[in-house]
Amino acid sequence: MSFPLERVRADFPVLSREVQGKPLAYLDSAASAQKPRQVIEREVEFYQHGYAAVHRGIHTLSAEATEQMENVRVQVADFIHAASAEEIVFVKGTTEAINLVANTFGRTLLSPGDRIIISEMEHHANIVPWQMIAKERGLHIDVWKLTPEGELDLSLFDSLITPQTKLLALAHVSNVLGTVNPIETIIPKAKAAGLTVLIDGAQAVMHHKVDVQALDCDFYVFSGHKLYGPTGIGVLYGKAALLDQMPPWEGGGSMIKHVSLTEGTTFAKAPWRFEAGSPNTGGMMGLGAAIDYVNALGLDAIHEYEQELMQYALAELAQVPGIQIYGPANRAGVIAFNLGKHHAYDVGSFLDQYGIAIRTGHHCAMPLMSFFGVPSMCRASLAMYNTRDEVDRLVAGLKRISQLLG
Ligand code: PMP
Repeated sequence: MSFPLERVRADFPVLSREVQGKPLAYLDSAASAQKPRQVIEREVEFYQHGYAAVHRGIHTLSAEATEQMENVRVQVADFIHAASAEEIVFVKGTTEAINLVANTFGRTLLSPGDRIIISEMEHHANIVPWQMIAKERGLHIDVWKLTPEGELDLSLFDSLITPQTKLLALAHVSNVLGTVNPIETIIPKAKAAGLTVLIDGAQAVMHHKVDVQALDCDFYVFSGHKLYGPTGIGVLYGKAALLDQMPPWEGGGSMIKHVSLTEGTTFAKAPWRFEAGSPNTGGMMGLGAAIDYVNALGLDAIHEYEQELMQYALAELAQVPGIQIYGPANRAGVIAFNLGKHHAYDVGSFLDQYGIAIRTGHHCAMPLMSFFGVPSMCRASLAMYNTRDEVDRLVAGLKRISQLLG
């Protein structure tokens, strides 16, 4: 069955607007994806008819909202095939999820002298929290180097493991290169070496199926807004046995069992122990609708369509004079490039004049920019609603810029 592209595009209201007098070609979904009306309407409906504070009230609206929130937790668990909904912690996004793990697992289950492996392709969100906790706790960070094509150099893995190595924190898919790391083979090796494994799935969950039990990772994190859901909502999956050992991070309402001014506080069990304060329930409803949307299309069908478009885009972009494309041939979601010596900002500004939205800059991956010896890159991302025509417009735009700028 062919992918229902026109129907999908019709579901995303913003895709029919114009930018700079031209039809919008939105090629920046890796930064944040657009939202289908099903997601927008679900949030509006919740605020119009079902909104109340959760977990606190006995009244009907509160009980309903609480039930709906917990239903989304079950939905998320099913989406990534977690063993139970209690392994799903709602957070603001990938960044908060990694900070949570660094500040709880990192602070209490790692000891001075322990070593953490991260890779050279990580987003700052999977670098900086580890650096912060490493400084505080006297931990060491070892960096897994890349091949010139921008893949993990798998031959180096064994040399990174020492008796002190306790954690591997790795992107599933690179937000710059689109590299799909072979975590199916890396995780068993890491587990055999006794490591805890955190996978940053921010750029993965919208492109292909993820099964955290089959992967056997300890933590898997992602953001709702890149999965066609709302901003301000994301997911930390953690194995129950690990979450149970981890102390809370933020303190406040909802995460306690009992509070006494004289005897201190006892905490709720996981995952609620990690969800202090009033949560982003509207965002959760939208996330649930986004998962429904993606599930209805099927991640296999989405993957197949996106991969076909990706191969087309790579072949067409290769025809642009002076273009340098970064990263491996097999990739998901993104194509990073530079055009001759032109600064990425100039290229991005020109493309904007043609109604084409791409991302420019260091992509929150400065170490990766250093690896390639450039200050910045352009990045076009391909989502399930992008078309060959948009790729053609990008290619034509780049050819024109090449001519204009010389
Ligand atoms: N990791 C990766 C691989 C990402 O692409 C991003 C978002 N660009 C993040 C982490 C951070 O996600 P968020 O800003 O939603 O917290």
